[in-house]
Amino acid sequence: MGRALLTAGSNNSSSGDFGYDLDLGRAVEMMRKCGATRVGLQAPEGLKRAMPAIAKQIARETGAEVIISGDPCFGACDVDLNLCEEVDLMLHLGHAELGQEPNNVIFLEARMREDLREAVEKAAQILKAPRVGVTTTIQHVHNLGQALDVLKEHGIEGVLGPAGGRVKYPGQVLGCSYSTVRALDVDEYLFIGTGQFHPLGIALATGKRVVVADPVTGEVSEIDTDPMLRRRFGAITRAGEAKRFAVLVSKKPGQKRMELARRLMHLGEARGLEMFLVYLDNIEPDRLLNLGAEAAVSTACPRVALDDAAKYRIPILTPPEFEVLLGERRWEEYEFDEIE
Ligand code: SF4
Repeated sequence: MGRALLTAGSNNSSSGDFGYDLDLGRAVEMMRKCGATRVGLQAPEGLKRAMPAIAKQIARETGAEVIISGDPCFGACDVDLNLCEEVDLMLHLGHAELGQEPNNVIFLEARMREDLREAVEKAAQILKAPRVGVTTTIQHVHNLGQALDVLKEHGIEGVLGPAGGRVKYPGQVLGCSYSTVRALDVDEYLFIGTGQFHPLGIALATGKRVVVADPVTGEVSEIDTDPMLRRRFGAITRAGEAKRFAVLVSKKPGQKRMELARRLMHLGEARGLEMFLVYLDNIEPDRLLNLGAEAAVSTACPRVALDDAAKYRIPILTPPEFEVLLGERRWEEYEFDEIE
């Protein structure tokens, strides 16, 4: 991870070197205010190493007992509900709330300190449109103003799509929600962040050109959806040979789509496929093989099918891909899976 301090709020000293800023002072204040004596701590893998130091700091400043959630955590969709029941307050680090969580959960966003200027200046050289939709993930959303300023210096108007639904901030995207970009009437998008998953989602959700500026590596690139679409077409074709389908439903509160799973199950059965619903927390390759599934359709996080496909020996489809397989939707109408 990066270089900077994980800094606490005004009342607190720094807790280590993890490349993010966390306003721990605000959380400590809330814990004191509500008199929490038992506190849960949950964070994604990238922040896990900071947990013991943060736990110690909270315990020192509030006198509360702190329990760290040791299970994997993939997003705000993945609040540890069991631990929530054990504690007065749960501190969930690194994500912004989706608006569906138990009310004893406090979300503490982790803000990356990376300066966006250099990457955005580089991107401005290859952007073609005079008006561009600008978008990022939660780690950089506090710096979007800087990105818009840099674009303006290069004669480009940057615009942010509105927050709403699961998305807390204008311009923010989630791997499972591209509502902010779809709301814009622009011919081109600039995604600021790391990895291909979100910009691929933007390109598929809008059908427009997407330029990626990675503030960590300083690299700038243009998204090509073809390789991914070819892989997904291959997965659908392979799934066409299967007769036994697992329909995966996640236990994670912000990923659970039981109604959709039931609808897909009935669609498959109507086509003569053997379908069974599988309810699980973490989706792992062995679990599906042990069930004898020849293929699966995942109603959990879209990344399971789209990003982790190489982990599985059987094809795993998203709900829209399963509809393509069954002839309910044409391949030309391919859609990225999103959660409302
Ligand atoms: S469902 Fe997936 S993409 Fe959406 S918030 Fe959860 S982990 Fe992120």
